[in-house]
Amino acid sequence: MTQTLDARVIVVGGGPAGLAAATLMALEGVDTMLVAPEAGPDPRTVALMEPSLRLLGHLGAWPGSLSFVSSPLLHLDIIDDMGNLVSAPRLTFSAVELGLDAFGWNIPLGALIVELRAAALAAGVRMVPDTVTTSENLGAVAAIETTGGQRFYGEVLIAADGIESLLRKSAGISVDRWSFDQSALVTTFSHSGSHRDVSTERHRPGGAFTTVPLPGNASSLVWMGAPNIIESLLFRTGQELAMEIQIATRGTLGLISNVAPPKAFPMRGLRARSFAANRTMLTGETAHAFPPVGAQGLNMSLRDVGHAVDVVLGHDDAGSPAAMADYHARRSRDVTERQAIISAMNTSMLAEFLPLDLMRVGALSAISSFPPLRQLVMRQGLAPTNNLPYAMRG
Ligand SMILES: Cc1cc2nc3c(=O)[nH]c(=O)nc-3n(C[C@H](O)[C@H](O)[C@H](O)COP(=O)(O)OP(=O)(O)OC[C@H]3O[C@@H](n4cnc5c(N)ncnc54)[C@H](O)[C@@H]3O)c2cc1C
Repeated sequence: MTQTLDARVIVVGGGPAGLAAATLMALEGVDTMLVAPEAGPDPRTVALMEPSLRLLGHLGAWPGSLSFVSSPLLHLDIIDDMGNLVSAPRLTFSAVELGLDAFGWNIPLGALIVELRAAALAAGVRMVPDTVTTSENLGAVAAIETTGGQRFYGEVLIAADGIESLLRKSAGISVDRWSFDQSALVTTFSHSGSHRDVSTERHRPGGAFTTVPLPGNASSLVWMGAPNIIESLLFRTGQELAMEIQIATRGTLGLISNVAPPKAFPMRGLRARSFAANRTMLTGETAHAFPPVGAQGLNMSLRDVGHAVDVVLGHDDAGSPAAMADYHARRSRDVTERQAIISAMNTSMLAEFLPLDLMRVGALSAISSFPPLRQLVMRQGLAPTNNLPYAMRG
């Protein structure tokens, strides 16, 4: 007997990757169900590059009201603040060098999730506000069960259930994990001077200290460092943190004030050994996690989403071994190469890796002095220059 499907595609996880995947599927006419508890508030902001904004535009989630709480990224500065004998020159990239109005926009993640939920409902995604407890490949279909005792059948499962993904484990996909012995403090603050639409990444011993523009005289901060240092910062008063930020930004933003309550995130590295198996495709942090140097995480996740939709549309059976192999082939190079570069860049700021630090200085110096390399780095920073999914193409 053939099993009746509850939906062709079942997406599990209601973070930005799951919401975007379900909405894009539904907009492409694919019968889609999203199983996820509603995501809570998130204090992070995410720098999303031009191709990601194109995908969000497709979903109807951008620009709309999101643009009022977000800020364009016109310039990116990289400053070597390591204090070593040999240091890299200051690197400034400008969007106009690529003929763009902006590299991307800095968007509050909580507001993005609200917009994506609205877009999913408008697109006709069937929402099931429940947590998945089991998932399995039954041969011709896949099945999931939820805490509420519901059982659903789909042709393919899209795993977007985060870094400790249950679907990934059920699909028998193993991962490589590595630790950076680092955490990131996230907050927002006001400043008396203008940020001039510049995002500034300061390379400091222990990790990057990155300020990213928000509307008006305000910025978001991602401050990476040793876990004990970041933990201790959580107990400082707003005024004490303002003083720390004042010192680190060296007066470039004027007087710092109104520091929002900070939150810390552990820095982890993870890569799935396969990006699809057993009628399950991995998207977002189920497939890859790495430190936010260069703002690549969600940009890469949205490329997962775009490719997952292209694979579903391109195969009669989207859970077949051929579809699984297609998705894996589309994602493995982008993820592996970017993770390697970002991990090397991040590790170079950890004190005990002097040879890597010299490599970082050499790479930044070469980029600074060789214009074709600058162009290449800027273009690659936005997205891979080929093999973009349909929803991200211009
Ligand atoms: C400090 C910091 C700064 C960052 N800055 C940037 C940036 O500037 N640009 C950028 O591109 N990226 C950035 N990132 C990365 C980006 O924030 C993440 O990649 C993204 O938020 C992960 O989204 P996700 O949907 O994959 O996972 P999650 O947001 O973790 O969502 C997973 C969801 O699945 C749900 N779930 C879990 N288990 C189940 C289950 N069994 N059943 C149903 N649902 C389940 C959870 O409730 C959750 O809602 C940053 C990350 C950090 C830590």
